[in-house]
Amino acid sequence: MAINTLNSERFCPVCDNQSQIHFADERIDSAKINNFTYASRKQPEFMCLRLVRCTDCDLVYAPTPPTHDFLLNAYSEAAYDSAPEAQAAADSYAKVLKPYVNRLKGRNAAVDVGAGSGPLLPWLCECGFNPVVGIEPSREAIQTAPEAIQAMLREGLFSEKLLADLNPSLICSFMTLEHVANPSEFVQQAYRLLEPGGMLAVVVHNWQAPLNRILGLRSPIIDVEHLQLFNPLSMSTLLKKVGFESIEIRPIANRYPLRYWLRLMPLPTGLKARLSSILEFLHLSNKQISLRVGNLLAIAIKPLEKPQ
Ligand SMILES: [Zn+2]
Repeated sequence: MAINTLNSERFCPVCDNQSQIHFADERIDSAKINNFTYASRKQPEFMCLRLVRCTDCDLVYAPTPPTHDFLLNAYSEAAYDSAPEAQAAADSYAKVLKPYVNRLKGRNAAVDVGAGSGPLLPWLCECGFNPVVGIEPSREAIQTAPEAIQAMLREGLFSEKLLADLNPSLICSFMTLEHVANPSEFVQQAYRLLEPGGMLAVVVHNWQAPLNRILGLRSPIIDVEHLQLFNPLSMSTLLKKVGFESIEIRPIANRYPLRYWLRLMPLPTGLKARLSSILEFLHLSNKQISLRVGNLLAIAIKPLEKPQ
């Protein structure tokens, strides 16, 4: 399957700067693109679009991302096989988000963008948000969700239209901003949707984190699905530009079963399979391990009085 990309180049999708430096050459094997390519938590394939780095805000981005129609189709047809890992990720995010949610006054709607089969939604309900809504483009992910959760999921890519009936207190976007064609439009829409005082919570990979720098182009974040990669500077630039205030950005740990950490390692497939059998044999595959692998949490508040 070939990737349909834009004909013309885009400038930095965070700060519109035209000046860029080379970051990575395109590495795509069309024969390897299938419905797992746009699935979450797949086996890393080490393929990527051509990437450049903005000389102003340090965003790493693909100047020629796929077209909107290609992405919409790829994500709606994406396979879904990551339920235990998705639950582990949701538990990690709930833990780091809890103190911020405790400080938040509003308990109107909470929206989780890229909700998958909805593992974060029960926790958002427990926090008192009403209603709780998940946005998810993958039909297979929605079908995997338990019936009660399915009722809270809306199929599609994030858009203001899909949420026009809501005035959320909280919008969560965990590991999705790298995937969207226009991150500025995304945060603008989130800003407009939120009630005054409402909170946007974002988790992204930090390409500048030590582990990602050591692994370089062998890092699992170098992925054809990622149209941009953030660092603290580009994330704060993005959030400030649309008017968010009280921005906090901090590194977070992720807790996953050992089996999943092994999957992410840049090792030959044969060796990984052997190590995986050893973990199974030792009953260690499901052991939960918490690691800081270069992910960032960003919290941003829509001011009570809108700036002029
Ligand atoms: Zn920039």
